[in-house]
Amino acid sequence: MSKIPDLHTHSTASDGTLSPAALVQRASAAGIETMALTDHDTVAGIDEAAAVAESVGVTLIPGVEVSVSWGGRTVHIVGLDLDTSCDALLQGLQGLQSYRVWRAEEISRKLAKAGYDGALDGARAYAIGGLVGRTHFARFLVERGAADDLRGVFKRFLVTGKPGHVAGEWTTLANAVGWIRAAGGDAVIAHPARYGFTRSKLKRLFAEFKECGGRGLEVVSGSHSRDDYFVFARHAAENGLLASAGSDFHGPDNPWIELGRLPALPDGCRPIWNASGFGRAAAPMGGLLAASN
Ligand code: AMP
Ligand code: MN
Ligand code: MN
Ligand code: MN
Repeated sequence: MSKIPDLHTHSTASDGTLSPAALVQRASAAGIETMALTDHDTVAGIDEAAAVAESVGVTLIPGVEVSVSWGGRTVHIVGLDLDTSCDALLQGLQGLQSYRVWRAEEISRKLAKAGYDGALDGARAYAIGGLVGRTHFARFLVERGAADDLRGVFKRFLVTGKPGHVAGEWTTLANAVGWIRAAGGDAVIAHPARYGFTRSKLKRLFAEFKECGGRGLEVVSGSHSRDDYFVFARHAAENGLLASAGSDFHGPDNPWIELGRLPALPDGCRPIWNASGFGRAAAPMGGLLAASN
């Protein structure tokens, strides 16, 4: 049986550790037929990924993961099947990239106060594609012995209330969905279980998202538990959203799931890849999980 598409992955164009080419090669070796490259706030890796995808026979969906501020939190919106030459999209992403430059300087200043000098240069050394994120600071801090691993560094330095935390001031939900739609793409709410929203806040998010023209919800995600798959499959059905699936793979050394290990969507989900007709691996709906649960 063919594998379900993996519609959420990262490369060195943002905070992944594999180049776009190496990522696609690894996905191909793992048996993935359809995948999206969805780097944070940039589409810079798409051309390289698409060229390799074509040569190895993988269907590459051009994507992005847009940083949004909503409800006092950072929410990630994945855009799929984009025209990466769309001006509205590129200008929007450019604004987020500029904010990242400012935020990186701010994080670096804060870390200096906490006793870690040179964090900006240290983080930049890991940011191969030029876009700096917290993961790059985390790698620098691990190198400096601030904690044993990325998780430990995030917990002690980079999340709310910690010495290197800067509250994100990203774009609005309406802007993010608008740019994605302007580029002919489909907007999907990434890893909804990660935000810690109450049921009523989730309802509000889904309603606003749909009002803006959003279409999908990541039901199966590398950062979801098995229970989450079913909880969000129900949310998708109740709120008229299509279901998406993505590993959120950041590289072989990252804590998230490995490529090619995504389970099928739970029964009753409407897969976004069928509804939108991208990819050729129109996997049968659900079955596996539901049967073994
Ligand atoms: P940024 O968009 O620069 O604020 O960074 C967000 C990224 O940091 C996420 O996409 C993850 O890759 C990474 N991240 C967030 N929280 C953690 C964590 N607890 N452990 C490891 N990586 C994390
Ligand atoms: Mn990331
Ligand atoms: Mn994310
Ligand atoms: Mn991601």
